[in-house]
Amino acid sequence: MNQNISVERYDKMLYRRCGKSGIKLPAISLGLWHNFGHVNVFENSKNLIYTAFNNGITHFDLANNYGPPPGSAEEVFGKILQENFKSYRDEMIISSKAGYTMWDGPYGDWGSKKYLVSSLDQSLKRMKLDYVDIFYHHRPDPETPLEETMAALSLMVQQGKALYVGISNYQAEDAAKAIKILKDNGTPCLIHQPKYSMFERWVESGLLDVLENNGVGCIPFSPLAQGLLTDKYLHGIPADSRVATSGVFLKESNITPEKIEIIGKLNEVAKSRGQKLAHMALSWILKDNRITTVLIGASKPEQITDSIKALDNIIFSETEIKLIDEILG
Ligand code: NDP
Repeated sequence: MNQNISVERYDKMLYRRCGKSGIKLPAISLGLWHNFGHVNVFENSKNLIYTAFNNGITHFDLANNYGPPPGSAEEVFGKILQENFKSYRDEMIISSKAGYTMWDGPYGDWGSKKYLVSSLDQSLKRMKLDYVDIFYHHRPDPETPLEETMAALSLMVQQGKALYVGISNYQAEDAAKAIKILKDNGTPCLIHQPKYSMFERWVESGLLDVLENNGVGCIPFSPLAQGLLTDKYLHGIPADSRVATSGVFLKESNITPEKIEIIGKLNEVAKSRGQKLAHMALSWILKDNRITTVLIGASKPEQITDSIKALDNIIFSETEIKLIDEILG
């Protein structure tokens, strides 16, 4: 693995403006949910960051609980940054989040100011950073007043611990309320991070309009449905796949014969476009210019360079869109 920084790293990547903000993000961003924990091989994690950065991926997405164990992805990323990328901090957009269970007791979960503020302090220590570029509330909290959660995000910006803030997993109506509160606080919402892929299309009925109307960017997570929207499961379960190696969030039971039939049909459409299914799944999301960037994961460096090929063709004909809709039912 070449661990030099490429002078050509910005030549091929596409950068799209995040809503109506000053920030541009690479059309493909890298998430560290899997493959960066203490359980993973450190050299591979390091190679993933090198491959991403050397191909123009400037945005790295983390959360307090990524690992396993929780917190270890931030520690691993912090070590990689310290040892190899210290002088490149200003070329990176680094995000973290809090909102899921992180520590015992009533202050290590959900959306209180107490939890969010202390969690960001912990994340900064683990990553050895002075600030994150984006801090998200990871999921809505049905019990904490939205004003309190958003006040915590605004405080982080005022204190310089986060440059921008965002929300994740908020439905359209709650997103609109959160965006309004953040605007009134003088700390606008930069971006929303929802789950969105060919297999999960809820954002199309309302959320994307709310984001566009408010000038907020959108970074869909799991755009490959954790690897399902590739050709890898078409002929069984490969030993090095997420289903075989992790199996917690994507299980063998998710790969039903009906799903494989749909994936097979989508694979044929991809071929007719001169793409692999992984490319088509990403470009299908990026065809909508309300989307800022797609947030992929990768277990191998080659998957990153492969996924970037999606950018070669992000235009779909009406016939292709109709055909894909029919296949997805
Ligand atoms: P994807 O849907 O992109 O799935 C990634 C997996 O797909 C890889 O680990 C790999 O799996 C496989 N893969 C990737 N590229 C290719 C390729 N070119 N060809 C074949 N297979 C490929 O995303 P994730 O589910 O990993 O999520 C991405 C990020 O989104 C996370 O890291 C995290 O930052 C964020 N996220 C946010 C959440 C939230 O609540 N806000 C929740 C979940 C994720 P394999 O191991 O099989 O090789």
